[in-house]
Amino acid sequence: MFLAAVVLVAALLPAALGLLFAQRSLRAEEAGQLNRMADAALVQAEDVTRHLSSALGEIGRVSDEPCTASYLQELRRIVTAHRAVGDAGAIDHAGRWQCSSLLGAVALGALGGRSLPPPDWRGRDGVIAWFRLLHMPGGEQSFVLGRNGYYVAADPAAYVEGVKTRLNDGPAPASGLGVINTEASRVIATTPSADPSLLLALYRKPVQPGYFDAPYVVRRSGTMPIAVVVSAPREALPERLRSLPWGWLLGGLAAGVALAGWAAFFIVRHMSPRGQLSDAVRRHQFIVAYQPIVDLATRRCVGAEALVRWKHHDRIVRPDHFIPLAEHRGLIQAITDQVLDTVLLELAEFLKRYPEYYVSINLSAGDLTTPRFLGVLRAALARQKVRPEQIRIEATERGFLDAEAAKEVIGAFRDAGHPVYIDDFGTGYSSLSHLQNFHVDALKIDKSFVDTIGQDAASSSVASHIIDMAATLDVQVIAEGIEREEQASYLHARGAQFGQGWLFSPPLTAAEFIRYVGKMRKG
Ligand code: C2E
Ligand code: CA
Ligand code: CA
Repeated sequence: MFLAAVVLVAALLPAALGLLFAQRSLRAEEAGQLNRMADAALVQAEDVTRHLSSALGEIGRVSDEPCTASYLQELRRIVTAHRAVGDAGAIDHAGRWQCSSLLGAVALGALGGRSLPPPDWRGRDGVIAWFRLLHMPGGEQSFVLGRNGYYVAADPAAYVEGVKTRLNDGPAPASGLGVINTEASRVIATTPSADPSLLLALYRKPVQPGYFDAPYVVRRSGTMPIAVVVSAPREALPERLRSLPWGWLLGGLAAGVALAGWAAFFIVRHMSPRGQLSDAVRRHQFIVAYQPIVDLATRRCVGAEALVRWKHHDRIVRPDHFIPLAEHRGLIQAITDQVLDTVLLELAEFLKRYPEYYVSINLSAGDLTTPRFLGVLRAALARQKVRPEQIRIEATERGFLDAEAAKEVIGAFRDAGHPVYIDDFGTGYSSLSHLQNFHVDALKIDKSFVDTIGQDAASSSVASHIIDMAATLDVQVIAEGIEREEQASYLHARGAQFGQGWLFSPPLTAAEFIRYVGKMRKG
């Protein structure tokens, strides 16, 4: 469950990051586009404003009497000189319209006598403006700027038109663009699709948005009381998905798959029992316990059996829990080598000093199909000057699967001077046939037959039969798992030479074993 969650997180995290980066990169691109658009819009708005006010200035310098033919002539010249200016004209002090460059002087009549409403804004230099668009005679809805009895009118579209097309950087989002008079906080012009009140609200928002946060940009002019607001549209999700940078997304997905694969591999490699066991082999996490073997006649120790343990996170794991896995996964040979190394590291001095003692080592099927371990053993003993008969071999019948190979390897161990014992004798089906095939030095009677001694069970006499058979074949007997005196004396009486079990001693550390032997020699 936990592992599945890890793999899932490993897969989804990079994909999610990819999505995040895809969105960020999309937003960054969007923000870049908005910024460029705002810059261009501000340039254009300042340009239009400059034209309108310089047209106003030029009209102010015309010396002719307002609405005379020469005055109108001058107005027409000024209007054509300034692209943004659509019309210009004169009004009287009450705002009544007098004449325009387009319609000329107007007599009181059809159009005459019309008044402009009071202006929306008065600037410091006497400039007045009408932000509500005025329906000027001869013109359309116009943005009108005036001063001292004259005015200029402009199509507000001049402020915003063409900004996007001039930018010319690919498919610009269908953004809203507005120009605002910052002193009056009034909208001067917007693109047709934009919502003026929304743009004004964005402009009034006190906090300038962060680069990525909101899809809009406000730019204020440094020299004029105007600002532009550019907002990106809130596109529908499918629209945004289509424009997502797929590189980031696919990259994230690919990284996710790779990471998940790696996580799965890591988990199998390091967290599965198999992975942990191979780690243990690599890190030499095995220790060895020594269980004394005693002569049943004298009760003196003659040697010990080396029993491997796995020291795993301060826990001691018994061999029954990992030897089968190690055999199955091809790790057993490395473990056998480490057991031998440990035995020699801990007991080589002892064995050299007391050549009558021995240590027996358990081998598995993997060790019995090739003479590999014999080579390792031979080289190690030559280095340590320990006699071959001091290292003995215990082989279970499970190790005789390939009977021909086992026969050869067992023969080679014996030829090299290592006595060989058949372990767990009697628990396999073919114990007898093995005995006829192989020459061995001793049988170890399995604990299960020792357990039943003194009970009325049918198997209670098996131990005695095995001892008889061993005598016939002229091999020695070691009885395992002796826990009670009754068992020891029975086995001795039936002719078993050696015994091993808690009655004598549990498995010991090397130091404990050396002390145990020392005590026995004195006593
Ligand atoms: P085994 O070779 O039959 O070893 C005897 C087992 O019986 C040991 O268990 C020992 O601790 C236990 N034992 C000894 N005396 C008594 C007793 O009086 N009462 C009881 N209840 N138990 C007793 P251990 O150490 O857990 O080993 C279990 C098996 O693991 C061994 O059985 C052996 O087949 C295998 N093994 C141990 N060390 C190695 C090794 O280095 N290599 C290989 N391939 N197998 C090993
Ligand atoms: Ca054994
Ligand atoms: Ca056994």
